Amino acid sequence: MGRVFAVTLEGKIYTCRHCKTHLAIAEHIVSKSFHCRHGRAYLFSKVANVSIGEREERMMMTGMHTVADIFCVGCGAIVGWKYETAHEKAQKYKEGKSVLERSVDIVKLQMVISVVRWKT
Ligand SMILES: [Zn+2]
Repeated sequence: MGRVFAVTLEGKIYTCRHCKTHLAIAEHIVSKSFHCRHGRAYLFSKVANVSIGEREERMMMTGMHTVADIFCVGCGAIVGWKYETAHEKAQKYKEGKSVLERSVDIVKLQMVISVVRWKT
């Protein structure tokens, strides 16, 4: 207790696995069927308490995208990436949305996901 978060999220909360900073809530999940380099990932319409890294062009299974890595503001760990621009028309819905990784392979990328109930 006594911990101050930049934003307090309510509902089912996805937190940084390292420092428990709140990153996103279940209501904002757009898709649970995403895959990243390290396993499964969730696409969120909104995330909180992240800082955004440099934009870069990245080739993904669904084509070329302009993305930026996102970092937990609490501990600086990479928690996923944000889609800035999708070059394929079919992928445009991703723009402005963010993916949080569910990595178990690499310690540095073990991010998200303890789900906690937040009492109001
Ligand atoms: Zn963190």
